[in-house]
Amino acid sequence: MNLILMGLPGAGKGTQAAKINEKYNIPHISTGDMFRLAIKEGTELGKQAKEYMDRGDLVPDEVTVGIVKERLAKDDCANGFLLDGFPRTTRQAEALQELLSDLGKSIDYVIHVDVPEENLVERLTGRRICPTCGTAYHVVYNPPKEEGICDKDGSQLIQRDDDQPETVKNRLAVNIEQTQPLLDFYQDKGYLVKVNGDQDINVVFQDIESILEKK
Ligand code: ADP
Ligand code: ADP
Repeated sequence: MNLILMGLPGAGKGTQAAKINEKYNIPHISTGDMFRLAIKEGTELGKQAKEYMDRGDLVPDEVTVGIVKERLAKDDCANGFLLDGFPRTTRQAEALQELLSDLGKSIDYVIHVDVPEENLVERLTGRRICPTCGTAYHVVYNPPKEEGICDKDGSQLIQRDDDQPETVKNRLAVNIEQTQPLLDFYQDKGYLVKVNGDQDINVVFQDIESILEKK
């Protein structure tokens, strides 16, 4: 099962990816998570990505395509993968087609988690994440059992630097502009399925399951 999750920042891709990963056991490949890890570890990749991320801009395609290429070639992708946050540009989508065809793979579904733009600022500024396991919570919509503490490992939750209100607006603007051509690209190829992301987290997941179960 080779899947791509699409949707604007805050649509719930990471939240749904964790559920898909748990149920279907395919690796969750998030370019944003990979960049954040590289920054935390202080690697060369992290240094390259940081200035773009801090502004809410996209990291250049050469860098991003390179890390995805390496990741998809790993053994754990043999039975499937779940891409989250990649591709973000038509150039990246074209590079992915080429890369997959080199690896003898193809995409099964591109799942578009659709949420009205006006809900996204609130979702992003209210997001809190666990620095240890990456789980995303929301102060109102998906709070942890104990305020500020991860249910899974007890870590103190943090707010991502780019979830501050000033950066959120630029990130949304950048993404809105880039997303439509990508949706068109996958619609033309016949891969695109849309899910209403403006529902309870578990209801969104049920809708995704019913798509995947048809396979
Ligand atoms: P993305 O990976 O698309 O940027 P996340 O999965 O991190 O989005 O979700 C963004 C924020 O919205 C998080 O705080 C998350 O807890 C919350 N969230 C996710 N799905 C829903 C939903 N269906 N309803 C309300 N809040 C949600
Ligand atoms: P979200 O979907 O919540 O905005 P991500 O975690 O997917 O956040 O991405 C965070 C940041 O990482 C982006 O704002 C961008 O700077 C960088 N990034 C992630 N994926 C890509 C990509 N495919 N191409 C370019 N930059 C990316």
